[in-house]
Amino acid sequence: MYPKIVVDYKKLVENTKIMADKCHDKGISVMAVTKSVCGWDVVRDAYIDGGVDYLADSRVENFMYDTTLEKVLLRLPQKSQYPEVVKYCDISLNSSLKTIQELDEECIKQGKTHKVILMFDIGDLREGIYYKESYEELVADILKLENIILEGIGTNLTCYGGVIPTKETLNKLEEIGRNIEDKFDVSLKIKSFGNSSSIYLLDKEEEFSYFNNLRLGEVLVLGRETAYGELVPNMHSNIFKLQAQLIEVYEKPSMPEGELGMNAFGEKVEFEDKGMMKRGILAIGRQDVNYEDLTIIDSNVDIVGSSSDHMIVDLTKTDYKVGDIVEFNLTYGSLLMLTTSKYVYRGVENGKEN
Ligand SMILES: *Cc1c(COP(=O)(O)O)cnc(C)c1O
Repeated sequence: MYPKIVVDYKKLVENTKIMADKCHDKGISVMAVTKSVCGWDVVRDAYIDGGVDYLADSRVENFMYDTTLEKVLLRLPQKSQYPEVVKYCDISLNSSLKTIQELDEECIKQGKTHKVILMFDIGDLREGIYYKESYEELVADILKLENIILEGIGTNLTCYGGVIPTKETLNKLEEIGRNIEDKFDVSLKIKSFGNSSSIYLLDKEEEFSYFNNLRLGEVLVLGRETAYGELVPNMHSNIFKLQAQLIEVYEKPSMPEGELGMNAFGEKVEFEDKGMMKRGILAIGRQDVNYEDLTIIDSNVDIVGSSSDHMIVDLTKTDYKVGDIVEFNLTYGSLLMLTTSKYVYRGVENGKEN
């Protein structure tokens, strides 16, 4: 059924393998991020086939499955979900002592242990303890907790503030990590220096030599690093596509007739008079995806506009008819929205051979 989002399994395994091999060569473990596809099981399997070390997501709801890899919660745990966090996640990223202490209490209730990665903000201004603040007392308090393991430290860059990971920036985190290890005589198993925006550093080993982990999402699914937005050589950028079905095809004018008010979204729309055109209506709309985050694969077709449940396309240069399928390439935003919509079906191409 349509609309349908289709993943090319083989290409996704290839992308994952290229990145995982490259990271492993440099002594870096990979947390593969499933949040852009709402934890889609096929994507998870491809990551595992590609050889990643951990599965990561920002939402605990996406972790309700069994796997042999450790599951890492990327978003700081919220109080209302501590039971689920302890139950379904092995590791979580954290920045508040109170949260970690309460997770410890929940662990005691469930008879479990939980690992935490302490996040530091080295300038991007999203999550983490601000690197200029004191943190030693907090670390001492974490180490006192019986059911919590301080598994490592990490930082997040190029997410909110757009700060690009450089040696100078990463040095701030390295200093903190070394200080924690010396002062408390612990060894930090995970030293995580970022996401898809850090992979451009992989060829500059001296810049990250202290670190040993990356959390990768976008580069695996879209084949693109995110510091400069460059495609990564040999990786696929067209692993996912959207298919939508035509429910009407007619010759109509390109200008509406009559007095013009607002559209259904309270917007005043401008129209360009292109005379008569062959207009198609696709059964997909703004409830499923923002049409500006889509590009039509067939260059003879253009998007005209979209309402909640309909997308209008210009088919003038084509011979599409009712019932035909129009295909789109996706961005990070459209991948996220389409996998979130319960009205979008899912399919697999070049699937795993059984
Ligand atoms: C989403 C997220 C990632 C992955 O980011 P990409 O740019 O998709 O690689 C890594 N770390 C954290 C904390 C995240 O929230």
